[in-house]
Amino acid sequence: LPTRRVLMEDHTEKKGRLPIGVKGKRQKRIVVTGGAGFVGSHLVDRLMERGHSVIVVDNFFTGRKENVLHHMGNPNFELIRHDVVEPILLEVDQIYHLACPASPVHYKFNPVKTIISFLHIFLPFFSIHSLGARFLLTSTSEVYGDPLQHPQAETYWGNVNPIGVRSCYDEGKRTAETLAMDYHRGAGIEVRIARIFNTYGPRMCIDDGRVVSNFVAQALRKEPLTVYGDGKQTRSFQYVSDLVEGLMRLMEGEHVGPFNLGNPGEFTMLELAQVVQETIDPNAKIEFRPNTEDDPHKRKPDISRANELLGWQPSVSLREGLPLMVSDFRQRLFADSKLTGA
Ligand code: NAD
Ligand code: UDP
Repeated sequence: LPTRRVLMEDHTEKKGRLPIGVKGKRQKRIVVTGGAGFVGSHLVDRLMERGHSVIVVDNFFTGRKENVLHHMGNPNFELIRHDVVEPILLEVDQIYHLACPASPVHYKFNPVKTIISFLHIFLPFFSIHSLGARFLLTSTSEVYGDPLQHPQAETYWGNVNPIGVRSCYDEGKRTAETLAMDYHRGAGIEVRIARIFNTYGPRMCIDDGRVVSNFVAQALRKEPLTVYGDGKQTRSFQYVSDLVEGLMRLMEGEHVGPFNLGNPGEFTMLELAQVVQETIDPNAKIEFRPNTEDDPHKRKPDISRANELLGWQPSVSLREGLPLMVSDFRQRLFADSKLTGA
């Protein structure tokens, strides 16, 4: 067999038929698994804007057709309903792999499937890699578990409970990183690894249980904001357009990673509740609920590596980004209530 590089060149040449995209750049064929989800659909928008040919593979477990409806009918866009634990053969240049239940409520729903899907993904997708496609894995800040180092740099190995209720996600993503690196070292496959920190924005699932979507939906519905535990635990919230920019720079760049992609602005959950009150309803009540098991106490990315090697840093603060998400939620909740007659 020829080397991977030769195969890659052959592959690219075969696709020489594809037209020149916007900005005079060669159009690429790109798969986005999970492209009908929250982050995936924003990524698809940007890739389409750049004139690429995009194939979305999604089983709609948490994603929605509405998120990509505006691309239907565009000859550069294709939507395939497919579960990524099953093999699929596609001839492409790049794979952004996002398909995975991302909210704790969803990934705990079927924990065994969550972890198995991380392992299986590599079997079908690495058969594509042999054609030279570059594979970007969306890993997570959860690989740091309940971190003993603060802020978390990529050199930190984490503090994860291997047998807890969150382990299917944390250990699944850690295993996915391991497999990606083993395929990279052993088979010379081109991989990129992003460790994504808490991200919010328009198109998030309204009732997916994550804190920003919960608080925003609760404030809009005039329900109390549910703060788990004492509310002193921290997270760092990134607006989705910053993440998408980071993912694309990582895919196009020469560095494998892993790279932290997150906004270092750190908030306690009580502070987040306050920002939501200021943005939506100063009279919104706060209700304390017991916290979930193994909840990380604090989380904040050290983004020096992404800054230095990808020239990336977030530009949208929580106070700037939240209103954009609120108008999307307001519109969807209003549309829902019109439908239900509520
Ligand atoms: P999301 O739930 O909105 O999107 C996930 C998408 O994957 C959905 O469209 C869902 O239908 C699809 N999907 C799930 N399982 C699938 C399967 N077996 N086959 C095909 N499609 C499947 O979540 P998101 O927030 O957009 O997250 C996208 C990726 O980013 C995930 O891999 C997640 O782990 C990672 N991530 C997200 C965050 C965040 O804060 N949003 C943080 C860290 C990591
Ligand atoms: N949380 C909360 N109220 C909610 C949902 C979540 O206080 O209604 C807390 C949760 O306990 C955690 C933080 O918010 O400490 C972030 O939770 P999320 O599920 O959004 O993300 P992750 O835990 O995966 O970072």
